[in-house]
Amino acid sequence: MLLYNSKSRKKEEFVPIIPGKISLYACGPTVYNYFHIGNARAFIFFDVVRRYFEFKGNEVNYVQNITDIDDKIIAQAIEEEIDFKLVADKYSDAFIQDCRALGIMPPTHQPRATDMLNSIIAYIAALVKNNHAYEANGDVYFDTASLASYGSLSGKKMEDQMVGARVADNPNKRNPTDFTLWKKSKPGEPKWDSPWGEGRPGWHTECVVMSQEFLGETFDIHGGGIDLLFPHHENELAQATALTGKPLANYWMHNGFLNVDGEKMSKSLKNFFTARDILKEHDPETIRFFFLSKHYRSPIDFNRELIEESGRAVANFYAALKSVDYLSNTGINVQNEPSNLSKLNDLEADFIAAMDDDFNTAKAIAVLFELSHIARINTAEVDERMAAATLLVKLGSVLGFFQNIGQRLAVNTIPIITDELIQLIISYRKSARENKDWALSDKIRNDLAKLGVELKDTPEGCTWSLK
Ligand code: AMP
Ligand code: ZN
Repeated sequence: MLLYNSKSRKKEEFVPIIPGKISLYACGPTVYNYFHIGNARAFIFFDVVRRYFEFKGNEVNYVQNITDIDDKIIAQAIEEEIDFKLVADKYSDAFIQDCRALGIMPPTHQPRATDMLNSIIAYIAALVKNNHAYEANGDVYFDTASLASYGSLSGKKMEDQMVGARVADNPNKRNPTDFTLWKKSKPGEPKWDSPWGEGRPGWHTECVVMSQEFLGETFDIHGGGIDLLFPHHENELAQATALTGKPLANYWMHNGFLNVDGEKMSKSLKNFFTARDILKEHDPETIRFFFLSKHYRSPIDFNRELIEESGRAVANFYAALKSVDYLSNTGINVQNEPSNLSKLNDLEADFIAAMDDDFNTAKAIAVLFELSHIARINTAEVDERMAAATLLVKLGSVLGFFQNIGQRLAVNTIPIITDELIQLIISYRKSARENKDWALSDKIRNDLAKLGVELKDTPEGCTWSLK
């Protein structure tokens, strides 16, 4: 399996530390607001990473943190005029609910920073002790000049950053690139006791401590959106390297942005839509399809037409399942081995090859389209169609589709096609036939067939069904 490693900036063969056991950490949200669908891209993608490793027979230890202490949370608490803890609790509950609504599996562990204060303080104390961190007026900073490899993850050189940085930026810092491990609290702000006085931890320390606590000194994959590469992941790595001399993670994976008019969707730019609001208009699998139909590293533009198109594509998958009466037939062994079985085996191999090539979900989805097409060919053998539908569900589930299959198949999967509408068209066709306009009658039948609607002329009249 090949993975693009942001550290080496190339695709590398993926070799887990322990074969069959994958350790994965992906940065979770800072809970000061409802998350937007740009964030959802990251959460959905790492959900797929986890699902695919499990599909391949691995046990996955997937850790995703909740950052529940941060400047932004404090600012929101002041705005809502409530305690910071209430803000954090409100939005972490909302985060968990919205992830569930998006069909994201709960991670194996979901630690919160405020539950890890003892470990965080001990970590900072160890960095101070080995001279990689220093205290200044109640704050503690990481001394970036003390670590020769600082910048190696993002490829940024310390000197380059020095040039642009304003010296007066923060007089407590020894170098402009030094970052905060512990921040002295101002009156009224949340605070914890520490060897450096009352204060709170910095985000980069929270994440590195939570990842190592659950996954060990070095783990397989560390992930997040590309905005986290620098400074967040660089600074996590710096702390781990300073303490252990070992890599924090062997592979660093970063998803591209969801953009709006070419700019990153973000809370600060106020160009965002919350996942909550989007889910009022669209099905979760539509959102999933919208993201997964592009490669995870490519930027995606927020585009309502494309989201609607994604909805139609998902509806087509369900229409294919409906066409073989999937639910009534599941559990029944395919009677005769379909003569075209090798074609289906090839398609499964294509799906795996796509996913093994740095999670090429766009190519994997193309395989789902082919399977859905085979399931709908009404001239193909019944067993072959059923086998294609079964494989469609098996592989689609790896990407997180078909989570509510019973519910989806119980309703008409193509909402615009209603019985009323088709009866109306059938009545026009009847008039055409009464006028002996056979050409028009056939055109109506063929046009409907293109939409997946099949007409049958019976002695009792014309009936219709979805192909
Ligand atoms: P935050 O709560 O801002 O720390 O973000 C949570 C996750 O969402 C991180 O992995 C971010 O990198 C990711 N993220 C934030 N904005 C976007 C965006 N517009 N597109 C894709 N991922 C994003
Ligand atoms: Zn993080």
